[in-house]
Amino acid sequence: MHQLIELIGGDAAGAVEALSAFSLCTRCTGRLFARRLHGMDNALIGSRVKELSGLADPGDEECYLCHGLFKKLDDLASIPLQELSGWEFETLWVGSRLEFGTRQREEEILASHPFPDAEPLKVEVNRELGKRLSVLTGREGRMTNPDMLVIIDTAFRTFELDPSPLFIYGRYRKLVRGIPQTRWPCRKCHGRGCSYCGNRGKMYETSVEELIAPPLMEASGATEHFFHGMGREDIDAVMLGSGRPFIMELSRPRRRKFGLAEVQMGINRLNEGRVEVADLRPSSKEEVRELKAAAPVKKYRITFRTLSKINKQLLGEVVSKLSGAKLAQRTPVRVSHRRADIVRERTVYSCSLSSSEGNVITLEIEAESGTYIKELVTGDGGRTVPSVAGLLGAECEVVSLDVSEVNTGAGEKW
Ligand SMILES: [Zn+2]
Ligand SMILES: [Zn+2]
Repeated sequence: MHQLIELIGGDAAGAVEALSAFSLCTRCTGRLFARRLHGMDNALIGSRVKELSGLADPGDEECYLCHGLFKKLDDLASIPLQELSGWEFETLWVGSRLEFGTRQREEEILASHPFPDAEPLKVEVNRELGKRLSVLTGREGRMTNPDMLVIIDTAFRTFELDPSPLFIYGRYRKLVRGIPQTRWPCRKCHGRGCSYCGNRGKMYETSVEELIAPPLMEASGATEHFFHGMGREDIDAVMLGSGRPFIMELSRPRRRKFGLAEVQMGINRLNEGRVEVADLRPSSKEEVRELKAAAPVKKYRITFRTLSKINKQLLGEVVSKLSGAKLAQRTPVRVSHRRADIVRERTVYSCSLSSSEGNVITLEIEAESGTYIKELVTGDGGRTVPSVAGLLGAECEVVSLDVSEVNTGAGEKW
């Protein structure tokens, strides 16, 4: 008993008494103390326990809990092999589904005594299947973020593959107006297709996402794509300069290693004069989070018309007053149906006059992330203060708005 207490600790007598009610193999016995004896094989722990306690060994097939499951693992591990050969992955992890009866019997055993150091049967099955598949495929086992998760059903001898998505970073330039950044489902039919949307299921013929996606989908063999942009510009705004950072998420990719330079050329050839991409490279889920949280300074070029005659000298004064101005912007009327009505403080870093001909004026504005630029010009009925219209004392109408640079900061990875 002394040696047994040393091995499995605590209430060794109670544990042995509880175990005498079940006929378990060495592996299933050892597993109940696995976390105390880190790194020691469960079957080895089990045979030591049996040796020291005199508990009988029924052999693997006759084990009350596993019914000889571990003898079947070589065979189970080989089931997904053929399908896996059609997928590209460097790392894998295995999960399993156990028969309902097995799970019930395990619960019964664990309810008979505390067994504070027990490892769940499923954890060992996963680990053992993982070792085998790693050898069979020559791929590294990795629990966090594996390229491929294989789930094997040990009762039905079936499996599922759950490949992790592929993330590709890039920057896009949108050279024409009237294209939204992402697919915009029809607001009447939500994508099914109806007379309102001409059976397209969407509000716009295409989007930056849909223009960029096909070459990436083809190269990766993915089934779906999701576009993550570092903010977005208006549908009617072009996006110039060095482009806006984005990450394309590709679901269930068959291939993970392909020539991004070629894909980039393919995208640009396909969309000449409309959309361009640059700097394509592999990315990650973590980077999507960072990209979404980024608050880049943006440079805009806005052209507007004043509805009354304006004084050039006053215009010059207004422009210099706006450089460095702190704005109080109440949520614009045009987005108030989908955003909370609050007042935001935003800074205009710089404002300069690009051209003025008659009553048509173009300004270059650099402003904090989240500034509503159209409203900075129109004043939005007094909801943005100060504003160009307010300072000029003249009503202003926006003609066009372009993003001329998304400045993610020098030395940043974007
Ligand atoms: Zn067993
Ligand atoms: Zn519709």
